[in-house]
Amino acid sequence: MSMLARARAELVALKPYASARRSGVDARIRLDANESPWDGDGAQAQAINRYPEPQPDLLRERLASLYATTPQRVWIGRGSDEAIDLLLRAFCVAGRDNVVALAPTFGMYRIGATVQGAQFRAFPLDAQNDFALDTDALLALVDDDTKLVFACSPNNPTGTLYHAQLDALATALAGRALLAVDEAYIEFADAPSATALIDHHANLAVLRTLSKAHGLAGARVGALIAREDVVDLVARIAPPYPLPVPSTRAALAALDDDALARTRERIATLVRERERLRESLIALDCVDRVWPSSGNFLLVRFDDARAAFSRLLDSGILVRDFSAQPGLAHCLRISIGLPEQNDAVIAALTGSTR
Ligand SMILES: *Cc1c(COP(=O)(O)O)cnc(C)c1O
Repeated sequence: MSMLARARAELVALKPYASARRSGVDARIRLDANESPWDGDGAQAQAINRYPEPQPDLLRERLASLYATTPQRVWIGRGSDEAIDLLLRAFCVAGRDNVVALAPTFGMYRIGATVQGAQFRAFPLDAQNDFALDTDALLALVDDDTKLVFACSPNNPTGTLYHAQLDALATALAGRALLAVDEAYIEFADAPSATALIDHHANLAVLRTLSKAHGLAGARVGALIAREDVVDLVARIAPPYPLPVPSTRAALAALDDDALARTRERIATLVRERERLRESLIALDCVDRVWPSSGNFLLVRFDDARAAFSRLLDSGILVRDFSAQPGLAHCLRISIGLPEQNDAVIAALTGSTR
């Protein structure tokens, strides 16, 4: 069954905005888009006087190969944040539908759902149980009006990996809700991407990004990987030119062979540093718990998170305070930095021995 049966009917029927670059017709003299006829001058000749391709073919091919899928199953947007927003818009009828997500998890699912007027249902994970996911209990939150279930894996901010449970979850949700697997940190995990599951599940979508492992947070390039019908629907409701030309160039540069080799080395370094930092933190008196992480960050519970936060800040180190979130009292999330930056974290928290 196509998931479009669960999408907003008026959007499935919508005739998309016919932008100039969408027509696919090209000519020597292009007077079809009210652009400036002068292309880039001077040292910065980038020809950005023209609108970009709505979905640049080459980038789509490169991302499809990176993510082991086909170009037709890839939609590229301004970070995975935009794909999250568009999925919510495409599927949720305001004032009626709902979405389900884990708690704690990445905050944009709740924001996006609220902006779209969809109810947000949080499934509470238990810190004492290492944030393990009971899929039956999660499924009890799903009803006829549930259109999306967000599974962030590895989860932000806990670092927990749920990939072993995704196949069963997608099966349980078949024909009812789209399972959106947010893989923003999968490069740091010891698990294959869920993109391979899309062959078996019409209701599975994967979100990927160049923002984290590939070091391009400032370029805003992310991707939705899903069945062709879902990708086409998102493409039809998306703004006409989501990808600025300089961002596409930066993405292509990050995806050439040398850059990918360097990225793989950096991922290995960060994973090694994550485990080193975890061991060092566990050994500190002020640390109560450090959860295992499959991401490029650690969730750490301190005896006194406020004191730890200030000590770090006094040493010029900013971390993320999650202590106000339900179940995360005294928890800080620490991103893995360069080896010397991680040393600085330990030095700051060791304090008295300096
Ligand atoms: C950082 C992050 C994102 C945002 O990615 P962009 O591609 O930069 O928009 C998405 N999901 C999770 C879980 C993240 O932590």
